[in-house]
Amino acid sequence: MPLHPPAQAGQRFDEIDTPSLILDLDAFERNLVTMAAYTQGHGVRLRPHAKTHKSPEIALRQIAHGAVGQCCQKVSEAEILVEGGVTDVLVSNEIAGAAKLDRLAKLARQAKITLCVDHLDGVREAAEAAARHDVVLDVLVEIDVGGRRCGVAPGETAVRLAEAIARSNTLRFGGLQAYHGTAQHMRSIDERREAIERAGLGARNTVERLAQAGLACGVVSGAGTGTFEIESQSGIWNEIQAGSYIFMDADYARNRQADGSPFRTFEHALFILTGVMSKPVPDRAVVDAGHKAAAIDSGLPVPYRREGVVYTKPSDEHGVLTGDPAVLPHRGDRLLLVPGHCDPTVNLHDWYVCVRGLHTADAHVEALWPVAARGALT
Ligand code: PLP
Ligand code: MN
Repeated sequence: MPLHPPAQAGQRFDEIDTPSLILDLDAFERNLVTMAAYTQGHGVRLRPHAKTHKSPEIALRQIAHGAVGQCCQKVSEAEILVEGGVTDVLVSNEIAGAAKLDRLAKLARQAKITLCVDHLDGVREAAEAAARHDVVLDVLVEIDVGGRRCGVAPGETAVRLAEAIARSNTLRFGGLQAYHGTAQHMRSIDERREAIERAGLGARNTVERLAQAGLACGVVSGAGTGTFEIESQSGIWNEIQAGSYIFMDADYARNRQADGSPFRTFEHALFILTGVMSKPVPDRAVVDAGHKAAAIDSGLPVPYRREGVVYTKPSDEHGVLTGDPAVLPHRGDRLLLVPGHCDPTVNLHDWYVCVRGLHTADAHVEALWPVAARGALT
C-alpha cells in the first residue's frame, strides 16, 4: 500500500499532516536570488550541491537562476539528476571500482559528467570505464586544503595526477577540487577566513605548478555556505559548491558574521512541522517528531518563533518540549522546528511540502516535490 503523502496541493497550511518536511517557497526563492546575485556579482560560477536537496525540482530552479549545473556525492544522485534534466554534474567525490564507474561513464552519454581523483589508480579506473563506454570523462584532481578528508597534498603530487589525466585519451583534465569542509562551521569569521586563506595558498601554488607543466587549470571548485564569500573574493576559486544556503539550518545559524551577529545572509526555508500529541504534565509537551523526522548529528531541532520553548530528548518518534507552562503549546497544537542539519534531515522524508505564504493567514500548499534521491547512497 502506498504511503499517505502528508499533504496535497491546494490544502490550507493547517491541513498538513505531521510530522512533515516543509519548504517555505518564498524564503527559498529569496535564498536562490541572494546566492545567484552574489556569485554573479563576484564573477564566479555557482554549482550548488545536490546532496542538500536531492531533488531535480530544486536543481532546475537553481539552474534557472544561473547555476552552471550541480554537484553531488554519489553516482546514484547523479543518475537521478540527469534523469530529471540536469545536463552538467560534478561528482565532487572519489569513485572507486568498475561497477560504479561504468554507471558514471554511461551517464556521460547523456550529460557532461565530471568526477574527482586523488590516486593514480582512480585515474586508471576512470579511463578504463570511459573507454568501455566510448565516452570522455572530465576529471578534477582533488587536493586536501585542510579538511583532512579526501585529496592529495597540494603541489607536485597533484601535478603528477593531472599529467596522468592529460595523457589519457578518454579523460579530460578539468582543474582542481579544493573544498575545505571543516572550515564551514568555524563560528567566527576570522577563523573561517584564516582557514580559507591557508587553503588558497595551497590551491594557488598548485595552479602555478600546473601552468609550469603546461596544464591549464580551468576550474578551481570548492566552498560551502559557511565560507563562499571568502572563496568568491579570493581570485583563486572560480566555482562555488554551496548547498545548504537554500535551506539554512540551525547549525549554520550558529555561525557569526563579522560584527558577531548570527549569520543571516540566508533565511530559514526548511522546517519540520510537528504536532503535540501529549501533554502529560503542564511543563512537558510531547511532539511527534523525533530523530526519524529530523537529523540530530549537528544539534537538536530548534522551535521556530516560539520564545522560551526548548526541544529536548529526541527518541525515535518523540521529542519533548520543555519551558514555562505559560508558553508551552497544548495537545493538538502544531509548531515549526528548524532542523539542526538540513542535508540528513531531507534524506528522512519522501516529500517536500511546498508552502506559499508560510507566515501569513493565507498559508497554503502550492506543490509536493519528491525527495527523488532519498536514500541514493550508492
Ligand atoms: N562541496 C562538498 C564537496 C561538500 O562535501 C559539501 C558539504 O559537505 C558542500 C560542497 C556544501 O556544503 P554546504 O551544504 O555546507 O553549503
Ligand atoms: Mn551538511
